[in-house]
Amino acid sequence: MIVYNCPLVPFEFFHALKIPFRRIEPGSGEFQYLHPNVCAFCRTAVCSVKPDEVLVWTDSCDSMRRSYDFLKKNRSFYLHVPVKNDEISVRFFARELQRLWEFLKTTFKREVSLDQLEKTHQWFVDRSSELQRAMTEDPYRAKAIFEELSNQKWIGSLEKRGRLVLLLGSWASDEVVKIVEEAGDFTLNATCSGPYALISDVQTGPDVFESIARRILNKRLPCGRFARERHLQSLIGRFRPDVIVLHTVKFCDFYHFDEGMLRKLTVPFVTIENDFTNALEQSRTRIEALLERVRERGDRKNLRSSYFIGIDSGSTSTKIVVLNERGEILFEQISRTGADPRESAKRLMDHAMKTLKFNEENCFVVATGYGRGTIDFAHERMTELTCHAVGVSHLYPDVRTIIDVGGQDSKVMRVEKGKIVDFVMNDKCAAGTGRFLEIVSSILEVPLEKMGKESLKAKQQLNISSVCAVFAESEIISLRSKGYSRQDILFAAHSAIARRLATMYERIKGVPPVVLTGGVALNEGLKNALERLLGVELIVPKNPVTTGALGAALMGLQQKR
Ligand code: SF4
Ligand code: SF4
Repeated sequence: MIVYNCPLVPFEFFHALKIPFRRIEPGSGEFQYLHPNVCAFCRTAVCSVKPDEVLVWTDSCDSMRRSYDFLKKNRSFYLHVPVKNDEISVRFFARELQRLWEFLKTTFKREVSLDQLEKTHQWFVDRSSELQRAMTEDPYRAKAIFEELSNQKWIGSLEKRGRLVLLLGSWASDEVVKIVEEAGDFTLNATCSGPYALISDVQTGPDVFESIARRILNKRLPCGRFARERHLQSLIGRFRPDVIVLHTVKFCDFYHFDEGMLRKLTVPFVTIENDFTNALEQSRTRIEALLERVRERGDRKNLRSSYFIGIDSGSTSTKIVVLNERGEILFEQISRTGADPRESAKRLMDHAMKTLKFNEENCFVVATGYGRGTIDFAHERMTELTCHAVGVSHLYPDVRTIIDVGGQDSKVMRVEKGKIVDFVMNDKCAAGTGRFLEIVSSILEVPLEKMGKESLKAKQQLNISSVCAVFAESEIISLRSKGYSRQDILFAAHSAIARRLATMYERIKGVPPVVLTGGVALNEGLKNALERLLGVELIVPKNPVTTGALGAALMGLQQKR
């Protein structure tokens, strides 16, 4: 069996020599001998290579090169793929291919003539043109051709529905596509795990190796190695997607450059980062929020319900808001989420029903927050981003930017008339979230609820330079050991979180009026630090923790009106 790392390999060799082949795929484990800075794709994929497999390894990127260093004890061939596709590069690559051809023939003891290779190459080029046509005419045929040529499974469904989501960036798995499809939309996979990796517009020429080299170097694939901008623009122009999802991989720098280009376009897009080690729940929120942003509200459901319930199941606390048909708040409550998000939500719901004396038949429940998927008694689920935007805009119709700082994540959204225009989330790192304050609270032994007030008593402006909670922790310990007061250190800690939030604010080009929400909004120290950095006065709602639940309840009520 041949294992290869990148579709810039000559598939016609494998077909002509009749050798089984497969592409390396991320697995469940991590390869501990690779440096932690090697991309998550390589760290998890390298484990899947078996000792008896023969590698055909392209020098796709530095992570691939470093992975190869560990794998070269296998029987392997290192294929140098030039970045350009001019005549010199084609000739260089043709020689590389010729070496690979000889290597494979010797390793697998196959005698196949160049005539046979030419025939296989011609067959491949014809099939790849058919694939290109079938992509618009008959997706079922496209799937069959793609699987025959690449021996990879087709990712995603074949029936177009909902909005068209163009998936760009690094190698994407079916998990990413599934998120889009579960939301009822259609994905066009233009990463190198999709059919574009095989499409190329060249005619066969007299020298088979040069001809294959041309086919590979002329690919239409918007791959990080090549001139992406031209390819991306032609893909976008051709398919006119409703939204774009840019799939990046942890510790892969290639695709972050595309973000700048996508920002200049009018097509809404979101960047997600995959680390292949945990579920893609955070990415789900980002993708769903983007889809909700472009979705027109469906037909009103002519609901008969009299109570509209929003439940926001956060990582730290669960919030409930009950509205009547006039949109008045009848009930709101907060409780700790604990280990079972469904259970805490159910408890709050039962309490609301008992207090207001209504039953399940008479209410409509919309769930939001990270635990929304567990709330099986909800009639609908929406992302917390959309619900926060709706809830805050209901309270402050002129709001343009919302900064929400929760226990485990923070988000900054730019809104217009209750709709999200742009957003950025920090859900991976404690810096810039309530979690950071919890860490500081335990180091300095100052109760969480007193930290903000205490920070305002600072006598000098210290600086915690690190944006990472782990390094900041050691900075705090070192400041403490130098004898600085708790108040001075607290001031510096609040400024460090505020800096992180201010960067997010700048990234989405935030504008006033700005509303601060989330559990941390009641912390005066943070509010003060943020106001200083942003130069704007922040509005804090009376109950800044329940705005997401309020938005969810309002989303339900909108369906009746
Ligand atoms: S992104 Fe490009 S270089 Fe990397 S594996 Fe895919 S095709 Fe190869
Ligand atoms: S994800 Fe990025 S760094 Fe990793 S192999 Fe692909 S291109 Fe290279």
